[in-house]
Amino acid sequence: MNSAVQQDYSGEPLGAPVYELTHVSKTYARNQVVALDDVSLTLRKGSFTSVIGSSGCGKSTLLKIMAGLIPPSKGRVILQGEPVKGPRRDIGMMFQQATLFPWKTAVENIVLPIEIRDGKAAANNALDKAHELLDIVGLKGFENVYPNELSGGMAQRASICRMLITEPAVLLLDEPFSALDELSRDMMNMELQRICREQDATAFLVTHSIQEAVILSDEIVVMKPRPGRLAEIVEVDLPRPRTLDMMTTPKFGEIVDHIRNMLDKGEDM
Ligand code: ADP
Repeated sequence: MNSAVQQDYSGEPLGAPVYELTHVSKTYARNQVVALDDVSLTLRKGSFTSVIGSSGCGKSTLLKIMAGLIPPSKGRVILQGEPVKGPRRDIGMMFQQATLFPWKTAVENIVLPIEIRDGKAAANNALDKAHELLDIVGLKGFENVYPNELSGGMAQRASICRMLITEPAVLLLDEPFSALDELSRDMMNMELQRICREQDATAFLVTHSIQEAVILSDEIVVMKPRPGRLAEIVEVDLPRPRTLDMMTTPKFGEIVDHIRNMLDKGEDM
């Protein structure tokens, strides 16, 4: 499963480190739960990394620390050479449910982060870019539609645009398509891959689906619980771009089985 040189979406060798976590631990003061124990991780420019593990193994804690929403108890988190000490402009986040404001149209929702950050005039200047992004995610013609007229998948596409408009260095994705039916989810994952390739994005995805992790990722961080820690980093050397029919190949099945075995073992630890 290990390849000598890792490659990005376009088959090029992976770029420079974007995110570097060194010996990160987190103990919640309230209950003294060790949610994360000594996690070290590097995300390279243009790479797609997923994190998978049973409930309670620290995935959300890890994501929150990476996003600057909570501080680690120990260790360092560096993004683009600067320590992460709080929420930052160069971090894009996307959650399980699309969090669009119902009283704003699709395009208004997309430029909202710019409006909050830089004011109304800057948001107006970003409208062309918002239209471009809507086109990229297949929502041309839906610019002036309100969220209640969008399907779940369409709302998540709009959320992708809202995340991308600020051109973040890294995309932190917390099971963004878990509320969608399986078919839409598969399609959205392929869409996500295409967008990441086009933008040369560095992405980090929390997921419960081994298949989803394998089809999207260059690397899969398998975690185990009590305390939450890294069990293994699995490299996925399936060719890019990935296609849904790769899910029926023996290689795909091998990687899925390997991860499932790791997770089953984790339950006994
Ligand atoms: P996962 O996302 O993998 O389900 P979490 O990061 O949510 O795992 O949780 C890891 C551990 O930390 C769990 O034992 C959980 O109960 C505990 N935990 C999570 N958040 C808090 C919190 N705010 N205060 C105290 N304990 C927490």
